[in-house]
Amino acid sequence: MQLSSLLQRFNEPETLKMAKLGRELRAQGIDVIDLSLGEPDFDTPEHIKQSAIKAVNDNWSHYTPVPGFLDLREAVCHKLKRDNNLDYKPENIVVSTGAKQSLANIILAVVDDGEEVVIPTPYWVTYSELVKIARGKVVEIKTDSKDGFKITPAQLEEAITPKTKAFLFSSPCNPSGAVYSKHELEGLVEVFRKYPNIIIISDEIYEYINFAGEHESIAQFADIKDRVVIVNGLSKGFAMTGWRIGYIAADAAIAKACEKLQGQFTSGTCSIAQKAGVAALKEDLRPTFEMVEEFTKRRKRVLELVKEIPGIECSVPDGAFYIFPVVKSYYGKSDGQTTINSSGDFCMYLLNTAHVSSVMGEAFGDPDCVRFSFANSLPKIEEAWKRIKEALAKLK
Ligand code: PLP
Repeated sequence: MQLSSLLQRFNEPETLKMAKLGRELRAQGIDVIDLSLGEPDFDTPEHIKQSAIKAVNDNWSHYTPVPGFLDLREAVCHKLKRDNNLDYKPENIVVSTGAKQSLANIILAVVDDGEEVVIPTPYWVTYSELVKIARGKVVEIKTDSKDGFKITPAQLEEAITPKTKAFLFSSPCNPSGAVYSKHELEGLVEVFRKYPNIIIISDEIYEYINFAGEHESIAQFADIKDRVVIVNGLSKGFAMTGWRIGYIAADAAIAKACEKLQGQFTSGTCSIAQKAGVAALKEDLRPTFEMVEEFTKRRKRVLELVKEIPGIECSVPDGAFYIFPVVKSYYGKSDGQTTINSSGDFCMYLLNTAHVSSVMGEAFGDPDCVRFSFANSLPKIEEAWKRIKEALAKLK
């Protein structure tokens, strides 16, 4: 069958591929520990679940407005004021089926054929693929472990050309855990001031999972705020990945453009999940903070465990729930049967030998590294890293 050329332009998410391979091994009775997936291993907080149950009983069962219920968009504005001291109106908000759809909307809304989107590496797997779907061109800015995986203003300036349409980044970053301070953002903003046509897409979905202190949004810089698009959602901070609620906060014209696209793709997202979203954004944040406390303990422990393994160089993540160590010292080594030549080989070796799933750095634009999640219980983390250590010791 002749399928469209669009399908040739992009790859399926490596994160989902690894999770699928892990599931297949598990179906064969093998005890695979999953360090590949990017979601909290906690249940959605009780008060959020109760508001969904109430929404079902109150018959919120009809189509919803394309950009989301007004009360949810008001709740997003409330959250942006409460947590980020940012003023937005409901007309600036578009709620989508996950932040992934928010990102798809915004990229399709702003990027034309051949236009460039500057993305620091490592980046979330989906960014580059969405740009390719939009027929744009990804311009990578390389960072590495020694710089804490952050770009400098000079690197940003160097990457900008007359074709640059947008800059896209996440802070806290998936996969590196890098978090930009206000001072570091200020440095980038000074460059953006010279290029008034560049749209800045700021993915803040890991906002609450921050071990370094305050979350800083680049939209706080008032003179560029109208061209910043904040992307956020409930998946990570409220353990609501399956509910599929993401949103943007943007200039009203950009929001309208996203609404137009979404009106043809999906319409408004699930009515019940939206009602639950109001509770998440307006009520008690304690369950979120308790979850972050647990991530803090796991982060400490995983950093101790990884230090015990020779040849792995790991920077300390300031946010999100991943470590992204450099593993390239293992390239060229073999256990007598399998030779490791890339981060993909490294992950497959760990999956087959240690029965631990992880995600190759190539998928995030950094072939020297591998992403390991710590969104798993402490006993599972202990066991996974014991197995990883033993498997890597066999490589000579
Ligand atoms: N942005 C980043 C950096 C992510 O890691 C993810 C999920 O893994 C998303 C966006 C999308 O989140 P969702 O579609 O679940 O809201």
